[in-house]
Amino acid sequence: MDMGIKGRKAIVCAASKGLGKGCAMALAQEGVDLVINARTKSELEVTAEEIRKKTGVKVTAIATDVTSEAGRMQVLAACPEPDIVVNNAGGPPPGDFRDWSRDDWIKAIDANMLTPIEFIKATVDGMMKRGFGRIVNITSSSVKAPIDILGLSNGARSGLTGFVAGVARVTVKHGVTINALLPGQFATDRLHGTYRARAAKSGKSFEDEYKAGEAAHPAGRFGIPEEFGAACAFLCSVHAGYITGQNMLLDGGQYPGTY
Ligand code: NAP
Repeated sequence: MDMGIKGRKAIVCAASKGLGKGCAMALAQEGVDLVINARTKSELEVTAEEIRKKTGVKVTAIATDVTSEAGRMQVLAACPEPDIVVNNAGGPPPGDFRDWSRDDWIKAIDANMLTPIEFIKATVDGMMKRGFGRIVNITSSSVKAPIDILGLSNGARSGLTGFVAGVARVTVKHGVTINALLPGQFATDRLHGTYRARAAKSGKSFEDEYKAGEAAHPAGRFGIPEEFGAACAFLCSVHAGYITGQNMLLDGGQYPGTY
């Protein structure tokens, strides 16, 4: 299927690896020029070159912390009029809510709620004026099925989800959709880190914990960033203009509810 977005411009945040990279690669495969971002310059440059070589699109790499005002300005300066914005950043750490200070909460809210809101604020009016725009927020399955030790994520991402629910109904008339992709368990560095932590706690090997996690999953495996990217490219396509304000769970059937 031709996604109809060849020649469009996208900002993909936090995209040197994992789900952000999956989205960047899938958009590039559709002929979208990219501004990609992450904090570690060396890794980001490698990813940018890999995408250029595989797809031939223009890729600008901006090594900066997207959760800072200065970082966002740098990214927006490289692409002031994007047609597509994929909002992403690292997730907050797990823990017990009794241990979290106000600063911990502000950090989580900054990264996983206010940063995407700032990007929406900076880009959505231009998109509406031009009559086309796609904003995809990478959130988490924890928005739909909270995970107790990820309270910072549950809370901050739910705030973003509530905000977007209102705005997405206003922008759609002007060709601009805003949706969220909710990853379940995807095989990325972050997930490997989670299983390394489980192994350290249980005394089992990483391989045993990881295999047990896959075996317990309804799909018998974890998702891969390419699958995530493909869903993102579809949401950014011309065919998805009637989908807005939605929270699409990509979890291989792990969420047990009917709705
Ligand atoms: P990942 O493989 O660890 O990749 C994270 C990417 O984000 C890297 O490119 C990292 O590069 C970049 N990054 C992190 N913080 C950043 C910042 N402040 N500014 C700019 N770039 C930043 O993680 P992932 O699995 O793709 O996860 C992406 C998001 O999805 C996270 O918010 C995560 O919590 C959420 N999520 C993931 C899963 C899963 O199963 N993988 C499930 C639910 C939710 P640098 O470190 O160099 O900046």
